[in-house]
Amino acid sequence: MVEKIKKTEAEWQAQLTPEQYQIARLKGTERAFSGRYADSKTPGVYECVCCGTPLFDSNHKFDSGSGWPSYTRPLDEAHVATEVDGSHGMVRTEVMCAACDSHLGHVFNDGPEPTGLRYCINSASLKLKERS
Ligand code: FE
Repeated sequence: MVEKIKKTEAEWQAQLTPEQYQIARLKGTERAFSGRYADSKTPGVYECVCCGTPLFDSNHKFDSGSGWPSYTRPLDEAHVATEVDGSHGMVRTEVMCAACDSHLGHVFNDGPEPTGLRYCINSASLKLKERS
């Protein structure tokens, strides 16, 4: 379990850039290939841009060709939450930060082995802590 982090909309807005706020707090989506981490191969841990919870590891990142950072699994299952998302005429599984409920992206069943999962995540919801 992670400790829940609650802030007001005004507090999130003050802390985040307008793009980060739109995507992470209002469930937006960055344009494909526009995010800073789409093609990144830099080793490290991808943390929640809102609260710093470690969410994904570069070791599980793969080239999906989708234009968004893609991972086969989260760093720790307990650090992410999922919910059915029926918006935009599709049924998808939304992925959120378990600590602060920020919107991260969606998870699909068309990923590579060993999990067969593709966590398709917005760069704007992440902050890479580089490993040396
Ligand atoms: Fe968070």
